[in-house]
Amino acid sequence: MESLIGRRLLRSEIRLQNEELGSLIEKSVIVKEKALLHDGTFICRRCGNRESHLFARHHCVKCDRSCTYCRHCLLLGKVSECESLYRWNGSNPVYPKLEKPMEWSGTLSPAQQRASDAVEQTAIEKKELLVWAVCGSGKTEVIFKGIERALVLGKRVLVATPRTDVVKELLPRFQKSFPNVTISALYGGSRDRKDGAQFVLATTHQVMRFYDAFDWIVVDEVDAFPFSYDQSLRYAIQEAKKEDASLVYLSATPSREWTHSPQIERIKIPKRYHGHPLPLPQFTWCGNWQKKIEKDQLPQCITNWLAKLQKEKKPILLFVPSVRVLHSLSRVLQSHSFNHEKVHAKELKRHPLIQAFRQRQIPILVTTTILERGVTFTNVQVGVVGAEQDVFTEAALVQIAGRVGRHHKYPAGDVMFFHYGVSKEMRRAYQHIELMNREGGF
Ligand SMILES: [Zn+2]
Ligand SMILES: [Zn+2]
Repeated sequence: MESLIGRRLLRSEIRLQNEELGSLIEKSVIVKEKALLHDGTFICRRCGNRESHLFARHHCVKCDRSCTYCRHCLLLGKVSECESLYRWNGSNPVYPKLEKPMEWSGTLSPAQQRASDAVEQTAIEKKELLVWAVCGSGKTEVIFKGIERALVLGKRVLVATPRTDVVKELLPRFQKSFPNVTISALYGGSRDRKDGAQFVLATTHQVMRFYDAFDWIVVDEVDAFPFSYDQSLRYAIQEAKKEDASLVYLSATPSREWTHSPQIERIKIPKRYHGHPLPLPQFTWCGNWQKKIEKDQLPQCITNWLAKLQKEKKPILLFVPSVRVLHSLSRVLQSHSFNHEKVHAKELKRHPLIQAFRQRQIPILVTTTILERGVTFTNVQVGVVGAEQDVFTEAALVQIAGRVGRHHKYPAGDVMFFHYGVSKEMRRAYQHIELMNREGGF
């Protein structure tokens, strides 16, 4: 039963016999509800999706008729018309008021300190707060005091972030800083079974399996995501939080909805923790790069830049707009004797490769946008091949540029936008970075 507390799950996710589950429903400890609502259009109760193109119909083996299901949250298991969701309705457990749960003694910049104080305040009184922090400003450090305060007050804490990679990176940091707190880390494929842990670290996707569970929630990277993602993220958070919960949103590139909402307080960290400005991107026209790459040629400007950095022995992160370009560019680099590796979302060796790059065993790492955020490599130099392509939105480009100069010993570096015509998004990204630097007093 432990595993049901604060949850909303499909039958297949519940490890109870029918009899046991039935008796819990009878006692109203569990509420059984239709998984899809219908008021003219379908609404998925788990992810909040109500967009008709994100539903599909098929002949269902369970109900043996044509049955609608939600495509939007399919990765968590199919939510269909004939399914039910089982939501916790019992009392919430009382969590202990932990004494001195934190062993972290990092120092904060003045701007970080202000944000940290504001975050801590949300653990004391109900609030919604957006921390708008430039890439490399140390936004994770800014939530430590808030987590501590929430745990001291006996609150249940959730830190949610969109990417599995980030969950994996944050877990050891939190474990080290909160050594005696049970932390549950949830992402697709994780085998974590610390049900009911007071401190949960999860992908935003996994948040959809919680209901009325948390007193204090931090949502990392509430960014300029596609609208449907943004909507379901909001829905998932609203469902997972308790009524009196406070919400803290972190972002370097928040969308307008987050920056203009009247109920959300805002605090900015316009400066990096080491006090240096953000590197501005350089726009370099390289003609029809796609055609050249297909003909096994590397645009000269890219060749020159790579050669220069290799001489200086600097690690290079090369972003490409698609997996197709990833493979063709990799072939061209190969034939030009540029030693490199490549990663994308479906690359199974992704984590060891990223690790090897971090340890400087690989000089060049070619990547899709999966590495645009949440990763830090000392002294990395960044190039974007085809920066004018649609996937490279303002937010994506700001994040990519934000990989550079994060270390206090190497606060500067190259951010190259190799393009075949400057896009509006490229220009916006440039202005965005310029504005943050101005606000940071540069
Ligand atoms: Zn759904
Ligand atoms: Zn069905």
